[in-house]
Amino acid sequence: LVARMRPFGTTIFAEMSALAVRTGAVNLGQGFPDTDGPPEMLAAAAEALRGGQNQYPPGPGIPALRAAVAAHQRRFHDLAYDPDGEIVITAGATEAVAASILALCEPGDEVVCFEPYYDSYAASIALAGAVRRPVTLRPAANGRYAFDPAALRAAFGPRTRLVLLNSPHNPTGKVFTPAELALVAELCQEYGTYAVTDEVYEHLVFTDASSPHVSLAALPGMRERTLRISSAGKTFSCTGWKVGWASGPAALVSAMLRVKQFLTYVNAAPLQPAVAVALALPDAYYTGFRDSLQQRRDQLVGGLTDAGFEVLDSEGTYFVTADITALGGSDGVEFCRSLPERCGVVAVPTQVFYDDAEAGRRLVRFAFCKRPEVLTEAVTRLRALT
Ligand code: PMP
Ligand code: GLN
Repeated sequence: LVARMRPFGTTIFAEMSALAVRTGAVNLGQGFPDTDGPPEMLAAAAEALRGGQNQYPPGPGIPALRAAVAAHQRRFHDLAYDPDGEIVITAGATEAVAASILALCEPGDEVVCFEPYYDSYAASIALAGAVRRPVTLRPAANGRYAFDPAALRAAFGPRTRLVLLNSPHNPTGKVFTPAELALVAELCQEYGTYAVTDEVYEHLVFTDASSPHVSLAALPGMRERTLRISSAGKTFSCTGWKVGWASGPAALVSAMLRVKQFLTYVNAAPLQPAVAVALALPDAYYTGFRDSLQQRRDQLVGGLTDAGFEVLDSEGTYFVTADITALGGSDGVEFCRSLPERCGVVAVPTQVFYDDAEAGRRLVRFAFCKRPEVLTEAVTRLRALT
């Protein structure tokens, strides 16, 4: 194995899901729903499979899906992208992130990102020979995760090529505020960098129904320097489909496509028309989806609090994090490794997503994208901890 990949072991998600299977624990580790997405979407996929849409689709994705992605971004974010040249379909957000970094970063270039970060970021940056410059998110006294603006400014420099921003943020559940986004935008422009935004949880913002998700690309001066990434997996409860996309100015999208064509060439043909159907669902689907996840967040937060965890705010995503100190824990990795045996629940240690392991030592992440009865069972088991 090449040196640049040696620091990366098996992903924590694979390790923890295997542990859940082995021990029969309730799996609140890996973030995947335990129910299927919209029936219209599933029917469209079945129809496409039976209807002969089973050969290589066009490299950037089928026109109907690119058009649906464009319409969705106009509808929810007032962002206009040309389906011919400004949108590319990818193998999930994961491939879009990897292809963006590989297309834009020379070896030695720096990528500013917020830690804890989604685990594929560090590996994609390493594959490109680039260097990550993490800015640390920490729980603040008000229960929200925050960063020091001076630390963000200090992370930018002459070698900064791009900032990789994930909001709503996995694993913390943080939604970046308009002021925080404005500072990121200001620094990108001051240093002439690109932005790559991972917005896979764009429809899961719980802060305030009247203030939906804000895309960094929608801020003044940002559209021309941003690759905006999202995916069907979370919004339509089909994480196993791996259909994602990136949108941006034609020059950036065509750079990405150059890389993407040699990573996967094209992506699963019959799933593309189905995701196009899903993206066109009425607003009621999206608000119903958010409300249902918000209820489950509230259920799990209540249960974790009753079980003695110090629960941090979850403003979005599938996830909530908690501090284990009050339960006598001092190391999240040890805590999560022993949790299945102690009470039959699997969670993920937040620490593994930090370079600064100390910052995440006592934090663990729970997924609430599960059926209410599964959450009830998990909470009952967790109560046995005290
Ligand atoms: N980014 C974030 C922040 C995620 O949480 C996930 C997956 N859960 C991904 C990217 C990967 O998305 P996909 O499965 O579409 O590749
Ligand atoms: N994104 C999911 C999570 O954070 C898992 C994705 C994966 O298994 N790679 O739990």
